[in-house]
Amino acid sequence: MNICDFDGLTGRVITSDDPYYEELRQVYNRAVNKFPLAIVYCQKETDVSNAVLWSRSHHVSLRIRNGGHNYEGYSTGNDILAIDLSEMNQISIDETANLLTVQGGAKNRQVYEFVSSMGYPFPGGTCPSVGVSGYALGGGWGLSCRYLGLGCDCLTQLRMINYEGTALTASPTENPDLFWALRGGGGGNFGIIVSMTFRLPGKVDKITLIDIRYPDSDQEKQSAFVQIWQDWLTDTDPRITLVSRIFNSREDGLGILARGFFYGPPEAALGIIQPLLRLGGVKYTLKYLPFLEAVNIIGSFYPPYEAFQSTSRFVLRDLTDCESCRLAAMIADRPQGSSYAALSFYALGGKVSQVDPEATAFYYRNAKYILWLNTVFDGCKCDNSAWIADRFCYLQTITEGAYVNFPYDALPRCHEEYYGSNACRLKMVKERYDPLNIFSFPQGIGSKICC
Ligand SMILES: Cc1cc2nc3c(=O)[nH]c(=O)nc-3n(C[C@H](O)[C@H](O)[C@H](O)COP(=O)(O)OP(=O)(O)OC[C@H]3O[C@@H](n4cnc5c(N)ncnc54)[C@H](O)[C@@H]3O)c2cc1C
Repeated sequence: MNICDFDGLTGRVITSDDPYYEELRQVYNRAVNKFPLAIVYCQKETDVSNAVLWSRSHHVSLRIRNGGHNYEGYSTGNDILAIDLSEMNQISIDETANLLTVQGGAKNRQVYEFVSSMGYPFPGGTCPSVGVSGYALGGGWGLSCRYLGLGCDCLTQLRMINYEGTALTASPTENPDLFWALRGGGGGNFGIIVSMTFRLPGKVDKITLIDIRYPDSDQEKQSAFVQIWQDWLTDTDPRITLVSRIFNSREDGLGILARGFFYGPPEAALGIIQPLLRLGGVKYTLKYLPFLEAVNIIGSFYPPYEAFQSTSRFVLRDLTDCESCRLAAMIADRPQGSSYAALSFYALGGKVSQVDPEATAFYYRNAKYILWLNTVFDGCKCDNSAWIADRFCYLQTITEGAYVNFPYDALPRCHEEYYGSNACRLKMVKERYDPLNIFSFPQGIGSKICC
């Protein structure tokens, strides 16, 4: 395309002849390798509107990108216009109204730093470079969710640029159907979110950061831990949220890990986590820290990027001993070229389950936890999709549905799986707010997969 053909796009436009294109086209998951026609870094709302109008008048598909952390790369593509929000990242707090407003390009790290400087926590995600918009639009599981709710549960209002380049407000009183859909319906489906307003939680002084490890594990211990985990989670204190994991690492062998936050002092946390310390060989630490220090420690475990494949499920019932054994067996053999394979368990319950499954688009309110199977490989060229697909076949027999923020490209009946009985209502909202399916991607709500 001739450079003049980009006339009409405003903001910072990067095309393939730009020296930084190669770096800027990439997303977090380096297994994704796409070549957009151009990336437009928007600085203001009119840049976003112009990008939508340009894409329509030039018949070039668009994708919306913020942190670039979508597992399957749905925020980019070949020969598309990537509308990048990451330079629209202003944040403000209105303490009188108890509201936090973030622009559509803010990242977890930026929001954490801002709110905690004023004494507040925030129900964001674990990885500092994840975009808050992508995170909250898909529901938003975080280490505060059992106490503060999902990221989407604290939303009070969103501002969105629609398929005509026009700004709309979604709130309980303005476009309430859209407001419903934007809380759990997944990023990229209805329009481009340029700002989000969240209800602020109460201030906190310090929280307890919990870190539990079983470094020298075996399959038996891993499956025993899964049993203990599910029993513990059933009626544990809602002030605590953990993610636990059984893993098989080339460097460290088989292991077990559980990390998370407790909104209270370490002495109380220690009493609550006792069952998780029961197996031999445990090592644990409890640190009483300001909220920002705790999220920064969690964030420090993430590399700047990696290459991986994964699939997610919701677990709604207790697994039998035999099923737990099969989970541990699942990761006992790592796929070729892979340095790491793991099953992670993201605790739900607490405040998440107090919301009706139909009150927002996030359907799986009654699940006990999210299960995530992933495999990380050395280079970007490996393909472990057969390994994942094989294990997915078994996982779907013992679980229900999938988490849209942990998408799986090969997921059959994906709308039903991501949204349960909310899928049809989401399709109606989609038809109303994006009748031409301008905001489309492989598993998008407008894609031709029946509900
Ligand atoms: C290392 C890592 C850790 C993670 N940890 C967690 C976690 O703890 N909890 C959790 O719930 N999820 C987690 N995720 C998943 C993450 O929340 C989702 O992938 C999220 O959608 C990423 O948002 P993003 O802006 O970074 O990514 P992007 O790839 O830029 O966007 C993700 C999706 O949202 C759309 N989108 C982005 N910005 C906008 C916008 N402004 N308006 C409309 N649509 C938009 C995109 O088109 C795309 O479909 C993690 C992902 C990674 C890679």
